Amino acid sequence: MNTFDFLNKENIGKEYKNFILLSIEDVPDYKCKSVFLRHKRTGLEVFHLIKNDHENLFAFAFRTAAKNSKGTAHIIEHSTLCNSEKFPLKEPFTTLAGQSINTFLNAMTYPDKTVYPGASLVRKDYFTMMDVYADCVFFPKLTHDTFIQEGHRLELDAEGNLSIQGVVYNEMKANFTTFYQIANDEILEAMYPDSYPAFSSGGDPAVIPSLTYEDFVAFHKTFYSPDNCCLLLYGDIPTADQLDFIDEKYIGRLEKKFNCTSDLPYAAQTLPYVKPEVKELLKLKKLDKSICLEKTAPDQGATGNLVISAKYTGQPNIEKYFLGEVISGNDSSPLSKAIKESGLCDMPYTGNYGQFKEEFWVLGMAGVKEGKEKKVFALIQKEIERLYKEGVSQEDIDSAVMGIDFNLREENRWWGPYSIQLMEKALKGWVWGDSCTSQLCPITKFEALKKELYADKDYIKKLIKKYFLDPEVECRLIVRPSKSYLEERSKAEAKLIEELGKNVDKELLKKDLDRLHEYQAHVETPEELACIPHSKVEELEKTVDEPKLELKTVKGADGSDIPLFVSHEETNGLFYVDVLFPFDRLSPEHFKHVPFLSNVITNIGWEGKSWDECISESACIMGDVWGRMLAGSVYDVPECKELAKKYEQYNFLGRKWLGVSCKALTDKAKESFDLLARIITKMDFKDSKRLQTLIQELRASKKASLVDNGRDLALKRCTAAWSEGYALAEILWGVTQLYTVSEYKEKNAKKLLKEFEYIYRESLKAGGVIHITADDESLKKLLPLIEEFTKNAGITKLLPSLNYKLEDFLPYVVSAQNAIGDQTKECLMTSSQTGFATAVSKCSPYLTKDAAAEIVYNSWLNTHTFWERFRTTGGCYGAGIYSDAGERCLKLSTWRDPDPQKHADLLISILSELSQTTLSHEDVEKSIVSCYGDAIVPLTPCDRGRQAFETFLYANNGFKQLKLDNLLAVKDEDVSAAAKRLAQMTSEMSHKVVFCDKSKNSYGKKLDLPL
Ligand SMILES: [Zn+2]
Repeated sequence: MNTFDFLNKENIGKEYKNFILLSIEDVPDYKCKSVFLRHKRTGLEVFHLIKNDHENLFAFAFRTAAKNSKGTAHIIEHSTLCNSEKFPLKEPFTTLAGQSINTFLNAMTYPDKTVYPGASLVRKDYFTMMDVYADCVFFPKLTHDTFIQEGHRLELDAEGNLSIQGVVYNEMKANFTTFYQIANDEILEAMYPDSYPAFSSGGDPAVIPSLTYEDFVAFHKTFYSPDNCCLLLYGDIPTADQLDFIDEKYIGRLEKKFNCTSDLPYAAQTLPYVKPEVKELLKLKKLDKSICLEKTAPDQGATGNLVISAKYTGQPNIEKYFLGEVISGNDSSPLSKAIKESGLCDMPYTGNYGQFKEEFWVLGMAGVKEGKEKKVFALIQKEIERLYKEGVSQEDIDSAVMGIDFNLREENRWWGPYSIQLMEKALKGWVWGDSCTSQLCPITKFEALKKELYADKDYIKKLIKKYFLDPEVECRLIVRPSKSYLEERSKAEAKLIEELGKNVDKELLKKDLDRLHEYQAHVETPEELACIPHSKVEELEKTVDEPKLELKTVKGADGSDIPLFVSHEETNGLFYVDVLFPFDRLSPEHFKHVPFLSNVITNIGWEGKSWDECISESACIMGDVWGRMLAGSVYDVPECKELAKKYEQYNFLGRKWLGVSCKALTDKAKESFDLLARIITKMDFKDSKRLQTLIQELRASKKASLVDNGRDLALKRCTAAWSEGYALAEILWGVTQLYTVSEYKEKNAKKLLKEFEYIYRESLKAGGVIHITADDESLKKLLPLIEEFTKNAGITKLLPSLNYKLEDFLPYVVSAQNAIGDQTKECLMTSSQTGFATAVSKCSPYLTKDAAAEIVYNSWLNTHTFWERFRTTGGCYGAGIYSDAGERCLKLSTWRDPDPQKHADLLISILSELSQTTLSHEDVEKSIVSCYGDAIVPLTPCDRGRQAFETFLYANNGFKQLKLDNLLAVKDEDVSAAAKRLAQMTSEMSHKVVFCDKSKNSYGKKLDLPL
């Protein structure tokens, strides 16, 4: 029994199993305590953020950096997770991903570090994951096979043609495809010449092939030592238990491998230790005089030139965040407004580049016409000087304070648990050799800033001077889109292959490749796989937590009962409101405009005031207010239909909604409700100049995200004629919507406003519903205000839907006929170095036992056959299969795919190939466990409320337990039956769509992408 108290300050300097306790700190901003320790022999550092949270997180972090673009850190990140001493499997990571109860499991390469995090709600799985990760990072095999699989190799096809392949190689090729990705790299290269940020940490495909196996092994040796590692921990598992685990399983092995025979001289140093050679590498070189640069980037995603001015601003601090919010936090902020109204560009391009120890500010514009560059620089200079002279308005200051206060209090799960964001902040300090808590006190720092702000009327002026006027060195950069950029890269690649081909001994290469392919084809036996333990179905907690929603009513403006949905969640003094009106009583020809309408709804002004006054007013009162659109349908299964009957009288089920949402501090409840009612009832549709700007921006942002959305666009084309719900989704979010956007012209702004006004007013007339999410304390203040709000907002009884069918929507879907028939193929053409393959077919109905068995089978496919065939050997970054059982639709896809045409067919044929598959009992159990993990991932309070509300509106709430029961009841034979069933269904019908470069021979029916 250990009694070491890690939180007792008297223990600082004392040891626990050779870990010296170096510091104990409060982290009040995140309601944590923290401890920092160092193992005195190996140098391994441990930072534990102790918090009463069952979702524990660990992360192994290593400082890694390079002054070349060979992508070594990235290739190592992939390769360590392929085969290690204790886990001699092809890919321990995928094996683990396919059988553990995790809420996060990944690895990330940053320019200055590589991080391996995992999170779980289950203690046993947490330690299993930590065990596998620790072994992989410190004791990987890093074989030559792994190197050529993950990094790069020459590959020979059946005809003897050579190509370069490799998982990272292909992944990065996709990254080097769009304008803004390359333009951003150019900015970093300009600002930190010859130092590590100037190079691509992910790897430049033109440079990756120069990496040798020897470099690769040496990189691991240099950076992956315990004295360059921080083990970051977060959550409620005691520090002692975690150190015991590391001590028992790893310390002895690490001491042996790294020859740690005595105490380190710096063992008691209280700050993180950075090895001199790493410190040298992490030094940033800055420009010593102003420069002007001109560069090019691919035209994919661009609507004009990028023109920016950048200035160094020193170490990170809250001042810069605040100043940024004041001058460009929202559309009405002075700098954003001046840029948008200048008519020089499609969008502002401003912000603080804060990922490095020395930061810099970028002020600029995107989508600038050729010849207007000088005007851009002049305008920015003039505006900054004007702001310095005239100062900023009190509203701009108040709205920035409100925005930051709100953001710092709101918990989110942008990508994984909130603790991932704390991890990133802690590791920034650690990488630089600062305390891990140095970046973990934004609230405390902001409170101090506010004191200064209120005491000094020139505070903002001083900040403008300090960050924008005083810095002497300025970098001006113009990046121009080039039509031939990608073509030139393809030519260079072809030339490189030819060069490499000259020196290659084809016999020897063939031998290498045969060996690799044989290794990849090896099917691991149960005995081999037994090295990673997994949870058993009978050990799992059988009840699932379902967010609850209360349905009440409130008196409406017409005296009728209006549905009021209330979610009780731990929102920490914040609240969220949705007010929705159905747009499905309009004729379907109007529906295509709803997405843009919902976008501009809170951005064009109300009560006869200008749009910027309105935005500024709302930003002073609320955390945010935005337009909403929600569309779906009630699934055609008995359980949902029955539930729908229960609420039939209210008319709220299965509707298509347009509305307004807001979030605010409960302290501002009264003002927020008043404002929300005014926005809803007094919205103006008059400012056509403002709409012209928004049209420009919409087009530019749709264009910039085209390739990133490729998979989603292709999948929506597959189901364009599938059902009423999917056809509408294609109109609202798919390629059809891109066509709608491409038809929006600035000169038609007036006409469009009329259309918007008509849709908006008609929707309001059709009645409404209200939803509110807040903690119990807040609800006590909020609920008494709702009745008055409902009246003020003019919300009336809901009128019934017109119940449109698929046939009613098809006339509005672009080339709908391409998706009609049993076997269809379509090709979406654009310019891109990467592609996507997608296919859909049928699956079993929602909430049935068959559907559960198919989910388990899909999960197994994702971590086995799909991973092996599409990623490991096919060169795709990823591939997946999942079912949307509510629509009875099975969806299959690959992403960042070098050969989408081939893979679209393979997605379907693979299922026939596997029709006779029988999974071992072990495999079925592991897949169930993995699906269970997905089903219990926690949500933020806001998302819990939102999910409960949205599922309620489509009679799909309260089924989590039934789904879990079905999942846990899946038997081995059910999965075999599922394999047969899916093979049968996919052979009978499928829709396939590929997204690829124009140069590829087209596949099926051709559809050009607009914009
Ligand atoms: Zn990667």
